[in-house]
Amino acid sequence: MTSTRLLIVGPQGSGKGTQGIRIADTFGVPVVSTGDIFRANIKEGTDLGLQVKAITDAGDLVPDEVTFAIVKDRLEQPDAAEGFLLDGFPRNVAQVALLDEFLTGRGEALDAVIELNVPREESLKRIALRAQEQGRSDDTEAAIAHRLDIYERETAPILAVYRSSGIVDTIDGVGTLDEITERIVAALEARGLARTAAA
Ligand code: ADP
Repeated sequence: MTSTRLLIVGPQGSGKGTQGIRIADTFGVPVVSTGDIFRANIKEGTDLGLQVKAITDAGDLVPDEVTFAIVKDRLEQPDAAEGFLLDGFPRNVAQVALLDEFLTGRGEALDAVIELNVPREESLKRIALRAQEQGRSDDTEAAIAHRLDIYERETAPILAVYRSSGIVDTIDGVGTLDEITERIVAALEARGLARTAAA
């Protein structure tokens, strides 16, 4: 039985949400997106949603323990037993350690980390467009700039950790959606990961 445990990493506006869904589909695994989970909880007005709304609106990070608890809960669901694609977690080095401890405890490990590379100006252009189209409450100019800063300061360093295990595939994130998907699929197949028959 082969597993497919993936993480996609990229700055805001890199297209990692869109590519994450496509790649998860191709390899037959569920997407686990912390941003989506938080947004769904905010929309439904759950306790978690009330707890994180102000934090996400400001573009700050939700505390590690809160975020890890929801990820752990999700990864323990039966549909994630043979694989998953993480989007948005881990987002700092402390979260890498939490995930690592969890996976190691189950005799598991990530198979690949997809790094989507997009220049900052391109990212900013795409988020401005998304702000117009979707009206996300954390897509204000101040929150976006803050999130990009946090990305560079706290999230980009996690790649060095994974690079030392040789599991990072760096993908050029500029091009058409299909071109970028093809680049990612090719990199994952080169690692011996198999797409599902249906895809
Ligand atoms: P983006 O990539 O555009 O910043 P996300 O949808 O990934 O958006 O996340 C939205 C917000 O949810 C983040 O700005 C942060 O407040 C919170 N969040 C998501 N993932 C994490 C995480 N792993 N740790 C802490 N906070 C998180």
